[in-house]
Amino acid sequence: MRAEVISIGDELTSGERLDTNCQWLSQRLAELGVVTAFHTTVADDHAANLAVFRAAVERADVVVATGGLGPTADDLTREVLAETAGKPLVLDTAALAHIEGLFARRARPMPERNKVQAYFPEGSRIVPNPQGTAPGIDLDVPRAGRTPSRVFALPGVPAEMKEMWRATVEPAIAAMLPEARVIRHRRIKCFGVGESDLEQMLPDLIKRGRVPSVGITVHEATITLRITAAGRNDAECRAAMEPTAQTIYECLGELVFGEEDDELQHAVLRLLKRKDLSLAVAEWSSCGLISRWLSDEPDSADYFFGSEVVTGPTTARLAVGGDPTVIATDDAAWTQTTKALAEAVRLRFQTDFGLAVGGATAPAADSSETPVVAVALASRDGITVRTVPYTGHSAILKPRVAKQALNLLRLELMKR
Ligand code: AMP
Ligand code: MG
Repeated sequence: MRAEVISIGDELTSGERLDTNCQWLSQRLAELGVVTAFHTTVADDHAANLAVFRAAVERADVVVATGGLGPTADDLTREVLAETAGKPLVLDTAALAHIEGLFARRARPMPERNKVQAYFPEGSRIVPNPQGTAPGIDLDVPRAGRTPSRVFALPGVPAEMKEMWRATVEPAIAAMLPEARVIRHRRIKCFGVGESDLEQMLPDLIKRGRVPSVGITVHEATITLRITAAGRNDAECRAAMEPTAQTIYECLGELVFGEEDDELQHAVLRLLKRKDLSLAVAEWSSCGLISRWLSDEPDSADYFFGSEVVTGPTTARLAVGGDPTVIATDDAAWTQTTKALAEAVRLRFQTDFGLAVGGATAPAADSSETPVVAVALASRDGITVRTVPYTGHSAILKPRVAKQALNLLRLELMKR
């Protein structure tokens, strides 16, 4: 069985808004073991929509469309679907009662136009929408000599669409499958080495055709290993993935910092909480990124007390209390400055740790040296400092050095 996902709206085809429904729906279909063969995005245009739906029902056994179910004149999906199936639109009194009830609860008169949302192509099943006015449509479109193509039309609003998928559409598609088969992923997150070095540490795991399969991707220096398994249900998939996950943990040790949506700041905050330790941060090259990441997490203020961001030698000197000796021009002095920043911020905020990202060195244009940044961690027991390269695409320089600093702290916290 193969699927097509259709996204409808001028705001999508004009590029004003990113089509996220399509990505989300394809991932959910894949979890059911259904392959999505086509993604189609179409404007709020009658002829274009008709052409898209006619093509979709021919080439896909299940079609999931979002958008165009609103009450306004540019919302064409119900009309186009009726035309595609060759059926009239008929009033559903229960759906009308639901829409009227929603307006009554909000103490607003129902505009006449909203009534169109209670019309469905004859023979449709209704996909309830508890949160919004637009119910979805579940319709079989006959195909000569073949089983019908089943079309689900849902509203474009992502929150409503997701809820309706979970409650109604997913179970309906699962029931169409000859044998229940689900696909599950497990993502293991690593930091500290390059992608190819990491791959070499995992003998035979990233081979094509392996079951369960393991894929490797890198985003801003964080490496994700994604295990994929198919099975009859969630528990069977999880069990099939477990030995592979164990092998990864054994081979990679402390390079692994978390799973699924975890980032380094989550790992660091968990460790700070578990050990009841506090942190202050001083940032130069990372420009406040670490502070932003940490402060985005709920309750992080219990362990992350504050930070200072500096953008040049003058402010860095102020941050370390005006000491004129800490800024000079050679690399050793840059390391010294970063150590001084870490200790100064630790003392200022009276924390267990002071974590600092220094400034980037700027080698002369004719030199073969590459720019480096020092990251330093100060505690009552002393100061650790590392120098890391500061080269590569400008878009990843800041997040990478911020992560290198967080990782220095993570590894120290794991020893305590
Ligand atoms: P509609 O159901 O067409 O009235 O869409 C309602 C709202 O949902 C639109 O204004 C968009 O903000 C949003 N939306 C519609 N389609 C998508 C999509 N494919 N991806 C993300 N958001 C969408
Ligand atoms: Mg729309």
